[in-house]
Amino acid sequence: MTLVAGVDIGSTTAKCALIEDGKVVGRSLNPVGVELVKDAERALALALSDSGRERRDVRAVTGTGYGRFKVTFGQFTVTEIGCHAKGAHFLFPATRVVLDIGGQDTKAIKVDANGVVIDFAMNDKCAAGTGRFLDVCAGALGYDVSEIGPLSLGARRPVKVTNTCTVFAESEVSSYVARGKDPKDILAGLYGSIVSRSLSLLQRVGVEPEVTFTGGVSRNEGMVRTLRARLGLPVNVSPLSQFVGAIGAALYGLERLEAVPA
Ligand code: ADP
Repeated sequence: MTLVAGVDIGSTTAKCALIEDGKVVGRSLNPVGVELVKDAERALALALSDSGRERRDVRAVTGTGYGRFKVTFGQFTVTEIGCHAKGAHFLFPATRVVLDIGGQDTKAIKVDANGVVIDFAMNDKCAAGTGRFLDVCAGALGYDVSEIGPLSLGARRPVKVTNTCTVFAESEVSSYVARGKDPKDILAGLYGSIVSRSLSLLQRVGVEPEVTFTGGVSRNEGMVRTLRARLGLPVNVSPLSQFVGAIGAALYGLERLEAVPA
């Protein structure tokens, strides 16, 4: 039995996944602060306590995400693009395209039959169309982002969200609220605008079944519904969707261990 850990330090959250014998046996998810090394250590400790395993049982720790170099106690580091590809392939082996929307960026990734990256496209530096954009707009509506997913159900006249800049979109949302627009229609407008931007990234790599949606924003069911409707294709979403990068990192570590003769 080989136990491996992947630690994904993102712009907003730290995730850890523990894999043993082809199964995810433990995980943790926490917001990141300013001390990323501590956040990474805590992520591993919490996943270990979730799994009932000990630190000494972990054969390899692999860091990923923008803060991967803060996983100073790990053996390996890998970019999140490779990790999302590998993690999505692990959960849905027929995946050919991955859409990852995290706190600060969006990536469309084309993968081969083995979960290896063929091509990818990313949003520019601005937070438009990312989790941060939704966090801010949820706040302008008086909700936490974890509450807004189902609220767009039943929208009848989605508003047009014209601003892509997060700050301007926030004031656009506030002005719709002030004009008495139904929050359902405001959210449907926001989801439509984010999905439009995601679709143009997906088109850059080429859309083909199966599409897998990963990252924290895939936990937003309104976003999932809108993406499915606009793509006209089934979209895989796992209950582990926010852990896909960490899962891919753990699997990279396992491959590296297996590549080294004992
Ligand atoms: P990163 O890896 O960049 O830290 P994540 O992939 O963890 O980002 O995604 C964070 C984003 O996911 C948040 O900004 C938020 O918009 C969204 N999110 C997280 N949890 C939920 C939830 N329960 N419901 C809806 N959206 C969520």
